[in-house]
Amino acid sequence: MSSVLTDLRDRTARPALLQERFENDLTALAAALESALAAKDLSTFYRTFRATRLPFICGEYRDNARLLLPACFDILHRLGGISPAAALAVENHYYVTSAVATFPAATDPPLEASRQRLLHAVVSQRLLVANTNSKVHAAKLGELGTVARPEANGFRINGTAAYTSLATQADLLVLLTEIEGEGFAVFVIPELQSNPAVEIGPYLFPSAMIDSDTRCITFHDLLLPSEALAADSRSAIARQLIPFEMAWHQLLIAALYLGAAARAIDEARLFLRGTTGRDGRPLAELDGMIVDIGRLALAYRSARGAAEKCGEALFLVRELPRDMAQLERAVNLASAAKYHGTQTAEAIVTAARRTVGARAFAGSCALERLSQEVMFGALGPEVGAVIERRYGRQILESASYPHEFLS
Ligand SMILES: Cc1cc2nc3c(=O)[nH]c(=O)nc-3n(C[C@H](O)[C@H](O)[C@H](O)COP(=O)(O)OP(=O)(O)OC[C@H]3O[C@@H](n4cnc5c(N)ncnc54)[C@H](O)[C@@H]3O)c2cc1C
Repeated sequence: MSSVLTDLRDRTARPALLQERFENDLTALAAALESALAAKDLSTFYRTFRATRLPFICGEYRDNARLLLPACFDILHRLGGISPAAALAVENHYYVTSAVATFPAATDPPLEASRQRLLHAVVSQRLLVANTNSKVHAAKLGELGTVARPEANGFRINGTAAYTSLATQADLLVLLTEIEGEGFAVFVIPELQSNPAVEIGPYLFPSAMIDSDTRCITFHDLLLPSEALAADSRSAIARQLIPFEMAWHQLLIAALYLGAAARAIDEARLFLRGTTGRDGRPLAELDGMIVDIGRLALAYRSARGAAEKCGEALFLVRELPRDMAQLERAVNLASAAKYHGTQTAEAIVTAARRTVGARAFAGSCALERLSQEVMFGALGPEVGAVIERRYGRQILESASYPHEFLS
């Protein structure tokens, strides 16, 4: 399927040769994913991925969200149209590396140095990055399953994190946890696959979303040197890293599920153009079908619009704390883009499946996989209730109609 996502990209800013190489790599990657899924073995997909420049565009476009974001958007949109689960695994690498590559930390020199170190390691050693927010499925919402205890020359990490996608492919893990009695902290854990103190456990979702490689991870007395601490709550600038990362995450999540939506529309289009009714006329000429597909295209178009608006806000976060208002706006718009994008994608895939009918599950129709995986969009990172509550509060706590918030 040709890339339909070019609106966010200022094509004049990227040299034509670079652009061509990007498209060639992306086409090869999409083909590798299709054949790896057919063979039920994603190792060839990851080999192809690592061999291209695509995982490391965070280095090429560092400090340039205007180029990095559309590139990540295109990659995830294309992969999301093949397998939302595999795209989700890769999305975790993209949002973390992109946030690191574009976070404006210059006013906090130690944080800036640690950002540059991490970026340099990822690009020069060609590392894939997984991450976990340490959340667990406990009786109380929001509980963390891990903790870091300060020691003489570093930290000791213990506990379990329920969610880590890309778990068996990543080289490096970014761990968000709490330093006991202090507050949040971000640690970088190298050599993820060979670290005896890190147990990469079973699939969290044993059947659904299997290709996201989402697993529980347990830390058994993992000793980390002080340099492994990349950011913590003592720095006012570092405290903004979490919302900044979240804006990238929610926006790129929208990208991959909108890719599923675009593919579903394309499957419906192919079916309607390639099938005739009993009267011998193509179904695509039926007025009802024209209206149905128009409705899906409009839903997709407006969800894309929300994502594009968020992108424009994210580009404006260039210096902190100066651009705090822009960051807050980007975070709110990312919630809206993710909320609307994932909901719309689920509705579009459902409608396209009903249009195509039972043959969506026969043979190798893309709609089967999309149908099974698209529903995960609503489930994270932020769940609908959290986003709705935030928006509701903004409206109701405002003495007058909040024009600026909703513009
Ligand atoms: C496929 C998949 C892969 C993932 N991969 C990763 C990963 O690699 N790394 C990582 O760190 N995380 C990952 N996550 C986790 C993700 O980032 C979120 O933490 C997670 O999706 C939140 O969902 P939860 O069910 O755990 O939320 P919970 O907070 O446990 O919420 C459960 C339910 O409670 C209700 N609820 C929650 N909060 C509120 C509220 N404020 N008001 C009212 N009702 C509420 C909602 O109905 C919600 O669905 C992944 C999640 C999924 C689904």
